[in-house]
Amino acid sequence: MASAAPLFSRDEARALIQARGRDLLALMQRASAVRDDAWGRTVTYSRKVFIPLTNLCRDKCAYCTFARAPGDPRAKTLSPDEVLDIARSGQRAGCKEALFSLGERPELAHVAVREQLARLGYETTVDYLAAMIRLVFEETTLLPHPNPGALYKCEWRKLRPWAGSMGMMLENVSPRLMEKGQAHFGCPDKAPERRLAALEAAGELRIPFTTGILIGIGETPAERVDSLFAIADIHRRYGHIQEVIIQNFRRKPDIRFRAKDEPGALEMARTIAVARLILPPEISLQAPPNLTPDAYSLYLLAGINDWGGISPVTRDHINPEAPWPAIQELAAASADAGFSLRERLSVYSRFISPAWLPASVLARAKSLLAA
Ligand code: SF4
Repeated sequence: MASAAPLFSRDEARALIQARGRDLLALMQRASAVRDDAWGRTVTYSRKVFIPLTNLCRDKCAYCTFARAPGDPRAKTLSPDEVLDIARSGQRAGCKEALFSLGERPELAHVAVREQLARLGYETTVDYLAAMIRLVFEETTLLPHPNPGALYKCEWRKLRPWAGSMGMMLENVSPRLMEKGQAHFGCPDKAPERRLAALEAAGELRIPFTTGILIGIGETPAERVDSLFAIADIHRRYGHIQEVIIQNFRRKPDIRFRAKDEPGALEMARTIAVARLILPPEISLQAPPNLTPDAYSLYLLAGINDWGGISPVTRDHINPEAPWPAIQELAAASADAGFSLRERLSVYSRFISPAWLPASVLARAKSLLAA
């Protein structure tokens, strides 16, 4: 599919993302009009069960509260039985998406992880993930959506037979964030060139893909714009980006950035509106409702069309302090802003075709749509 050209230049976007007052209002109205044309007045969500396969990781992101060191009593890799128990509880609660979250390549940093993987019969975390998404695909009616980090093409290929869609946050393209004291110091998997290569590899394999940027991790507004342009450029080449998440940093007591300011709701609104205008309109735009519960209407007015995955059974393991809103509450808040709430699958409708999905995954997606 040919995507529309950007509505403005990078320099214009860098000015717009700083809009205040009436200029911000005009920017949001422009973004809302683009959203209305492409997506109407419907806001969607995916009913998901969250499966935290392992919270071990070789990276040390300054904003992360999910990852644990191997000696930490809270470090945990789920066994196959535990994976299946969580997945089945999600299925019983009416979920359709099995969201697999995990740390990146922990076996490269920790002997204990290599030993544990060997006991399970695997060499790498990605191999174990492939086996677990297959298990869930075969033993439940769920559609797996793995979020495994920056994988190489041969690794994405291992997951593809059992995943409706996959994801990896780009985070930001600024190499500056890898420097000492910055968010991604000590995080080899957060090098921008690696993440961009991972996005491209997923495109080459025609994997329906979710990505996004983090707001408030030390990036400048111009670096946010650069990151959004990078996503749009890759999508124009491969057409595989189904949704982009604009996610705000939240402070937590046990992270390196525990004293850092959180971005305000207007900062989010500016970024959402500019994202809506930079990204091709067919890309769904999402902001997580549990991270700013009092900004539902503002985000809708700024141009989002999706709330992301909402879990009726498991907490948000990435932001454990932020409870998921009840789906009825989200429906009411959406209606207040003039939108109807609709459930969607983790893979968006335009990708439910043989051009994008292996036959068995396509059949699963179709049967879930009909359910
Ligand atoms: S955010 Fe992801 S990559 Fe970074 S430390 Fe946490 S689990 Fe690892």
